[in-house]
Amino acid sequence: MNKKMHIDTHCVLEYDGKNFSQPHILPIYATSSFVMESFEHGEAVFTGQKQGQVYGRYGNPTVDEVAAKIAALESHGMEKQAFGLMTSSGMSAISTLLQSLLQKGDAILTQEDLYGGTTELFKSVFPAMGIRTFFTDLKDISALEVLIKNNPDIKVLYFETPSNPTCSCLDIKALAEFSKKNGLASIVDNTFCTPVIQQPLQLGVDFVIHSTTKYLNGHGNSIAGIIVGIDEARKPAIWKTLKLMGGTCNPFDAWLVHIGMKTLGLRMEKHSSNAMSLATYLENHAKVSKVNYVGLKSHESFETASSQMRLPGGMLSFEVDGGYEAAKKCINSLSLAKYAPTLGDVNTLVLHPRTSSHLNVDPAISEKNGITQGLIRVSVGIEATDDILSDFENALNSI
Ligand SMILES: *Cc1c(COP(=O)(O)O)cnc(C)c1O
Repeated sequence: MNKKMHIDTHCVLEYDGKNFSQPHILPIYATSSFVMESFEHGEAVFTGQKQGQVYGRYGNPTVDEVAAKIAALESHGMEKQAFGLMTSSGMSAISTLLQSLLQKGDAILTQEDLYGGTTELFKSVFPAMGIRTFFTDLKDISALEVLIKNNPDIKVLYFETPSNPTCSCLDIKALAEFSKKNGLASIVDNTFCTPVIQQPLQLGVDFVIHSTTKYLNGHGNSIAGIIVGIDEARKPAIWKTLKLMGGTCNPFDAWLVHIGMKTLGLRMEKHSSNAMSLATYLENHAKVSKVNYVGLKSHESFETASSQMRLPGGMLSFEVDGGYEAAKKCINSLSLAKYAPTLGDVNTLVLHPRTSSHLNVDPAISEKNGITQGLIRVSVGIEATDDILSDFENALNSI
């Protein structure tokens, strides 16, 4: 330190980074910008000749490390290494990626049972930008071929598997092939599975997005998202959109995802085995008329799920006899499982779709898709199996 400077200046001075060893755990870089070593270094970094951070919205070491880690997980076992860009939320990942891929006049092809926020984005925000969306059944590929022939403005295929909350699955490989054949960019929202369970890039998909808010963080204490792509050549355009639309992820939220991911493998195993136990229990319960879980042979998507998922995952839904009143009683009688509108948490969480996520969906369409008044969604946690089962046993006895 320069002893000649005033005490007020000393208050403002920054550390020089020369006094400590490499930290064991990724640090949180809470800084909005980065110091250039010299004029020349600044010029080289700004012109892209040298790697380096410039300004927090353009990139941050904590955020970039976590993005690279998730990208490595999504492309694990592949020859090519995927790239990743973290965003301020899952919705930001979706809107940033699509804004970068699409122009006015282009259209999106997707399924009817998408995540509610995504449906609303496509229906009520994108049209004003001149981007249309076709919502249809993505299981019928021959019908998709006809739709594509009649609508050459479709440029992107966007889908989720398993779907929320009925866990209906789509054949990723077949849809990736269909996209390639028709020159569409394909995107999968892999939030429900995580790369530990399902790797859409390996099956030929171009992009994966996540709400890292859910399983990747796993502890319900961070909101963030990520865009992962397999073709590095597409990164600069997406990065530019992210940088200029400003949906940047902050380093603290990224760091929480980083810490959460250390136990991702363990968590997904336990979520899956607990969900399998609960689904089996519910399937044999007299007051339950239906259980939607991809681990059950009775589920319509059992075959598709088994062919592309390593584990059945932690999401299920079930229908209690007695509709709205019975679902209300059941949810109010649970004590370990909490009613919270999120998923992928270590704690068991429940949701009543018809009075929450599907409130704005036409009731007739919900009924048709199996989202009845008696349907309860469960994000099965990693608590001891017996405690989860007795919680649901007590709750079902109250009906
Ligand atoms: C939660 C969720 C999103 C949106 O993510 P946010 O982090 O809340 O913006 C998108 N897709 C799926 C499947 C989700 O569960």
